[in-house]
Amino acid sequence: MSENLLVVGVGFMGGSLALSLKKRGYRGKIYGLDVNPEAISTALDLGVIDHGTIRYEDIKGTPIGVVFLASPVRTFRSIARDLERVLERDTLVSDLGSVKGKLVSDLEEILGGRFVGGHPIAGTEKSGVEHSVPDLFENKKVILTPTDRTREEDLKRIRDIWELVGGKVEVMDPYLHDWVFGAVSHLPHAVAFALIDSLVEMSGEVDLFKYPGGGFRDFTRIAASDPVMWRDIFLENKENLLKAIDTYTASLNKLRSLVERGREEELTLYLKEAKDRRLRLE
Ligand code: NAD
Repeated sequence: MSENLLVVGVGFMGGSLALSLKKRGYRGKIYGLDVNPEAISTALDLGVIDHGTIRYEDIKGTPIGVVFLASPVRTFRSIARDLERVLERDTLVSDLGSVKGKLVSDLEEILGGRFVGGHPIAGTEKSGVEHSVPDLFENKKVILTPTDRTREEDLKRIRDIWELVGGKVEVMDPYLHDWVFGAVSHLPHAVAFALIDSLVEMSGEVDLFKYPGGGFRDFTRIAASDPVMWRDIFLENKENLLKAIDTYTASLNKLRSLVERGREEELTLYLKEAKDRRLRLE
C-alpha cells in the first residue's frame, strides 16, 4: 500500500485515520484538504498530513489513489462534485460519514461508481484535528456499504486500508445501516441533547446544572459533541430518526404511566428487563 491518499475534512476522524496509517507505516503520502486553513496548519504542525491545502485546484495533477471524505455528511455531495473536476479517472473515493443510505447512491452517481461507503464505529464527543489519535480504530467495527455498482477490487482496497489500522470490517446494506445506527447511535445522541434542553427548561430559581450527579454526567457526555456534525446526521437520516424518536417516546410514556398509576410490580419488571439487557452488553 503505497498510493497517495487524500483526506477531505481534516478534523478528529480524518486526522485519526491519517495518524493511524502513519503509525502503521503506510508508505503513500497523505494529503489533506479542509475549508478551514487553521485545520490544515494544525495538521501540518502536528505531522498528521504531509501536504495540505484549502483549494481543489492544488490537487489537480497530483497522483491520488484514494480519497476519504471526513467532513460533516451534508457537505459530501458538493465535495464530490468539486473532486470530480480535479481527480484522475481511476481515483477511488470512500468516506467516514455516519449516514449512508441515499447519500451512498448520490455519491455513486456523482462519482460514476468510484465510491465505496464506509463508517468506522469509533469516535468520541471531541472534534478538531488537535484531538486526533493514532489508535482510534484498533479492534473497532468498520461498516462498509457496497452496492450493485461496487467493484470487488475497490471494496478490497478500502477493506485493506481499514484492516491496516486495526479495524474489523463488516459489510452492510446502506439503508439497513441507517436504520441500525439511527437506533443505536443517532437516537441516543438526540435524547442526550434533548435531556440538556429539558434541564434548561426546568432551571428557574435553581440552576440545575450546579448539581450534576454521576448519572447525569454519564448520560449527557455525548451532548458535548459537535452541533454541525449532528445537525447533518439528524437531517440526513431523518426518516429513521423520526421513527426511533417515536418509539422512544412510547417507551418513556409507558414508564410515565407505570409511575403515574403507582404500578409497583410492573415498574420493577420494566426496570429489571432494561437492567438485564444493559448488563448483557458488557
Ligand atoms: P470534526 O469537526 O472534528 O472535523 C470535520 C472537519 O471537516 C473540520 O476540520 C472542518 O473544518 C471540515 N469541513 C467542514 N466542511 C467542510 C467542507 N465543505 N469541505 C472540507 N472540509 C470541511 O468532525 P469529526 O468528528 O472528525 O467527524 C467527521 C465525519 O466523521 C462526519 O461525517 C461524522 O459523521 C463522521 N464520524 C464521526 C464520529 C465521531 O465520533 N466524531 C464517528 C464516526 C463517524
